[in-house]
Amino acid sequence: MKIPKLKYPELYQWITEFKEKTKFKRKINLKYTNGKGVLGRVTVFGNIELEKGFIKHFMSLQPNVVKFILAHEFIHIFQEELVSLHQILNSKSHRSVVLRHEMRANINGAALTGLTNEEIREAQIQLWLYEGHKRKQLNYKSGYPSRMQIIKFVSKYNRYSDDVGYELLNDYYEVSGEVPSGQIKSIKPTKFF
Ligand SMILES: [Zn+2]
Repeated sequence: MKIPKLKYPELYQWITEFKEKTKFKRKINLKYTNGKGVLGRVTVFGNIELEKGFIKHFMSLQPNVVKFILAHEFIHIFQEELVSLHQILNSKSHRSVVLRHEMRANINGAALTGLTNEEIREAQIQLWLYEGHKRKQLNYKSGYPSRMQIIKFVSKYNRYSDDVGYELLNDYYEVSGEVPSGQIKSIKPTKFF
C-alpha cells in the first residue's frame, strides 16, 4: 500500500531533496511494508517500503529518525543495492560485503539528510531504544553495524570511502572473533554527490 502523501508530505519532500542532491532521476514509490521485522527496505523494483507503525511512532515527535532511515534506503537504491542482491549476499561468507553496504548507506545517508552529528546521534539512540523494545536488534555481532558503531562512524566521516570500510571490518573481526574467509571482496565503487 502506498504511503499517503497527504498524511506524510515530509516523506515525499525528503525524497525529492535526496534526488536533487544526488541528481537521481528515476521515480521512487513509497509504500508500507507488509510484515514486521524491518523498519525500512528497498524492493526489487527499486521502491522504498517503510513500516507503518514505525512512521506513526516517530513522524510527529522525532521525524529525524524517519528521515535517517529514508536516506539510508535511498542510498541503497542510489548504489544499486537492491533487495534480491542483498538477500543473496546476506550469508556469512558475504557478511563483509553487507557490513560495508550498510555502513555506506548510514554514512552517506546521514550526509544526505543534512542533519547535524548531534541530531544523527539522537536518532540512533531513539532507534536503538525502539528496536530493543520492538524486535530483535540488528546488531553488530549478527553482521550489521550496531547503532553505537553508526554514531561513531557518522561523526568521524562525512562520506564513506574504502578506508572507512576496512576500518569497520578490522573492528568487526576483532570484536566478533570471526576470521575472514579468503581475500576480502571489494564492493562496487561509491557514487559521489
Ligand atoms: Zn540497509
